[in-house]
Amino acid sequence: MKRSRAFIPTTKEVPSDASLASHQFLVRGGFINQQGAGLYNFMPLGKIVLEKIKRIVKEELDKVGCNEVQLPFVTPISLWEKSGRSETMGKEMLRIQDRHENTFVLSPTNEEAMVELVKNRVNSYKDLPINLYQINTKFRDEARPRYGLLRGREFLMKDGYSFHASKEDMLREFELMEATYKKIFTRLGLEFRVVQADAGAIGGDASKEFHVLADSGEDTLVICEACDYGANTETLFDEEKVNALNEISYEDLQTKTIDKKCSCGAKLSFKKGIEVGHIFQLGDRYSQALDAKFNDENGKPKAFLMATFGIGVSRLVASVIEQNHDENGCIWTRETAPYKVNIMVSNIKDAEQSELGEKLYKELQDKNVEVILDDRKERFGFKMKDAELIGFPYTIIIGKELANDAVQIYDRKTTEKTSVNVDTIMSTIMELL
Ligand code: ATP
Ligand code: MG
Repeated sequence: MKRSRAFIPTTKEVPSDASLASHQFLVRGGFINQQGAGLYNFMPLGKIVLEKIKRIVKEELDKVGCNEVQLPFVTPISLWEKSGRSETMGKEMLRIQDRHENTFVLSPTNEEAMVELVKNRVNSYKDLPINLYQINTKFRDEARPRYGLLRGREFLMKDGYSFHASKEDMLREFELMEATYKKIFTRLGLEFRVVQADAGAIGGDASKEFHVLADSGEDTLVICEACDYGANTETLFDEEKVNALNEISYEDLQTKTIDKKCSCGAKLSFKKGIEVGHIFQLGDRYSQALDAKFNDENGKPKAFLMATFGIGVSRLVASVIEQNHDENGCIWTRETAPYKVNIMVSNIKDAEQSELGEKLYKELQDKNVEVILDDRKERFGFKMKDAELIGFPYTIIIGKELANDAVQIYDRKTTEKTSVNVDTIMSTIMELL
């Protein structure tokens, strides 16, 4: 992509409601912008990042036998009446009516619809287990949509549902998904913890959440400093105390001591987290309610045992930046960066600089490197600020040093600039990637 052709509307304006770094930088960097409360446009750069995250989620899920499907975003209310959730979902579930006055729901989640999809199509224990997922739009009429993509009303979720003949098999899949989610978040370059969680409105026996650790996180976690143990404070304290903890800033939280020690003997500490994934052991609650059965080994009809697995895909875009930024802008991780290399021609009127820019651009493209060429007629300082705000991992600066056959590589993470001879720039950048 050439920057002169790209639609990347960066701005100095900070939205008045943007208190968090990810919200500010994603809007200022031209990744997203707001269309209404909790409703966001994904601009070209935001869309690239979103697609990258979707691809990683899909690759890891498909490797372990999950099947991608796509359900309608709009579901008939009758499905929700069967499970009883038309009553319990409350105002977060938005209802709409068609011209015949039939009521529909903008999907906040899809347990019922997935059970209906499997019902009468999977008839024998021999066809189990099955794990189906989609990466699809969800709508929740959140009481307080805020923090940009972190708490939207319309957002993108990966929701997966597995069907089993026995509890043992459901537990095996639950562990497999836990391991798979860990791979996904590791590939995304995130620092995260798996914690014990409340099963919430979905119910069931056990659930775990995946939290990206960030000082601005909405949830308060207790984690062990030595072993893997972690719990959302929702599972440890009453609602009043949890709300009080969630209101406290990360700094103030560090002054609070936990009286208890971890069962491994080590110290427990408070952390703030952004919930990016949630896995539940559901049991047969939905399959019973919707009368979804298979024949077991003795030919007896039995309700499917289920588990469900969610990932906040659009929330992840913001979570990467909440964890990786400085005062000047975004610092994308290797797998999430919209372009890995930005080639900046300092003075576009200088023929030698422009030619080298075009040449490197072509060579990197030929090597399938995601590269953008900043060929705009703007001042160097302006272009540099833009590169920092957007957060390309590497910028090749072609400037005055070219007279001595040198260019510079700017590393967004360390903010260091290194001079490199023109003859070795390609090999140097390829090694860095
Ligand atoms: P939260 O506690 O943050 O409201 P939840 O428990 O309601 O989330 P789940 O029903 O577990 O969420 O949904 C699965 C995933 O979808 C969550 O782990 C989260 O990453 C994401 N998610 C939920 N609500 C939103 C939202 N309003 N905006 C963006 N992502 C969301
Ligand atoms: Mg949850």
